[in-house]
Amino acid sequence: MSSSDEEGGEEYLFKIVIIGDSAVGKSNLLSRYARNEFNPHSKATIGVEFQTQSMDIDGKEVKAQIWDTAGQERFRAVTSAYYRGAVGALVVYDITRRSTFDSVSRWLDELKTHSDTTVARMLVGNKCDLESIRDVTVEEGKSLAESEGLFFMETSALDATNVKTAFEIVIKEIYNNVS
Ligand code: GDP
Ligand code: MG
Repeated sequence: MSSSDEEGGEEYLFKIVIIGDSAVGKSNLLSRYARNEFNPHSKATIGVEFQTQSMDIDGKEVKAQIWDTAGQERFRAVTSAYYRGAVGALVVYDITRRSTFDSVSRWLDELKTHSDTTVARMLVGNKCDLESIRDVTVEEGKSLAESEGLFFMETSALDATNVKTAFEIVIKEIYNNVS
């Protein structure tokens, strides 16, 4: 998104969007990553547009501005403003609900329509703590990701499995794309 020189060092700020069907865990992935919080009763997100989280790559401070939908995905009305300037995306489904996995291609199409640059993309199968009611296999997730050229990871916002890793892989990939 931007890179500037300040006191001899470089600064990076990357916009990343989280997309996917309603209730797959988008807001909880973000709150787990940015604040290490999980909300078992979360309803549609109210208010918060994005959260900024920093990480260090090669001794440089890289800031990710991570956008969460405010529940518009229920009405299939995520606006182009949401996608504008995004250089990374997490496309999330719920491993216990196949319909959310079937929606992934639609989300990828929407992302392509609205993004003008190379976007680092990660397919995220969330709620992997719910193994007993799994509805989408790991292999299905992997093979979709391979065929679409996405990174892939199963996560749990509840027990924090792979959440940090998923975001950091995307951020590192963006960094590699621009540096
Ligand atoms: P969003 O609509 O995609 O933002 O989904 P939310 O983050 O609001 O989560 C929807 C519901 O799924 C909430 O009841 C969450 O507590 C629950 N949830 C989110 N992530 C997980 C997870 O990793 N495991 C489990 N078991 N539940 C989750
Ligand atoms: Mg939400």
